Amino acid sequence: MKIFSFVMVFILALCADSISPLPTANALSSFEKSSIPFDIPTLKILWKERIEAIRAKGMIPLIDVESSFNPSKFDLIDYAKIMDDKGVALIAFSPQIGDNAYTKALKLWHDASRQLIHADAARYVPTSTAGIYPAWTSEPKAFINETIKQVEKQHYPLLGEFEFRHYLSPRQVKRNEYYRDISIPIDSEAGHLLFDFAEKTGIAFQIHYEVEDTLLEPLEKMLNAYPHAKVIWCHLAQIRYSDRAKQYTSAFVRGLLERHPNLYFDLAFGDKDSIYKPSGEHHSTIWDRSSGQLKSEWAQLLEDYPYHFLSAFDIGGDRHDELSEKIHVSREVLKSLSPKTQEIIAYKAFWKLVFNEEI
Ligand SMILES: [Zn+2]
Repeated sequence: MKIFSFVMVFILALCADSISPLPTANALSSFEKSSIPFDIPTLKILWKERIEAIRAKGMIPLIDVESSFNPSKFDLIDYAKIMDDKGVALIAFSPQIGDNAYTKALKLWHDASRQLIHADAARYVPTSTAGIYPAWTSEPKAFINETIKQVEKQHYPLLGEFEFRHYLSPRQVKRNEYYRDISIPIDSEAGHLLFDFAEKTGIAFQIHYEVEDTLLEPLEKMLNAYPHAKVIWCHLAQIRYSDRAKQYTSAFVRGLLERHPNLYFDLAFGDKDSIYKPSGEHHSTIWDRSSGQLKSEWAQLLEDYPYHFLSAFDIGGDRHDELSEKIHVSREVLKSLSPKTQEIIAYKAFWKLVFNEEI
């Protein structure tokens, strides 16, 4: 009896502030891989409970549709605590392969999502390997083929972000990583493979596609060719070189949504004062910098198409430490919106897009 009470007290102490049980170790390498295929129906029950628990605490649960992580550096317990503290229900977390400078062998897939689910199933949605340097950029076709094979075998509900046109991120600029300037035509063979897979399966994928006037037509051509493919265009209204992007306005995006009902956008962008150093421009063009609110035309677009916009943190393997800051910006975005739209963009749009059901 005494032992039982002691165990109960211990369990209650562990659960005191956490919404879901904390992982039992920090490093992902401490965990085995979960069995596959992923048992998505059972996971959904866990995820729904977590969403409800956050609501019960009086917070709007956030689901992050677009982030990636470095499996060898990731701190599980630290993340779990921050997520619980700040009302983050789920992160769709995509592993990064990293560059294989030591082995020289090109790996096309990373299984870290299986360890992540074994370690902390309540907090993460398994998401396929990030389409970034080096595997995706050097072997795009082979990378997509491997992704398709694994996603089908393991029952991934969502594909990661594929960099078709990507400028250096602010951190990559600091490190002079010019190989991260990526240009893979969206209508290349790899692009067709990806859109075709999404068209046939209904599984959504994410693209990083810098806003440039000359890139808009090829994208629309693909959206027309694959009208059932669910495409999440990441980083709404993030314009890093305004002279290359004269056509992209809220009215233009509204037109895209009218023409392409399976197009979605994520809301991962910098805060209102963020400057993209290479161009010296405020690249998060959605903000009205004097009021600190979203510009009214963008806020209205989000109100009119709330299920087409999704909260996102855009964590990367080189910026795990930015979680709190990203959560803060995501909550700032919601402040300009009506209560109903806030709930949709924060988590309901994700659930509808990924699981095709209302929550
Ligand atoms: Zn991106």
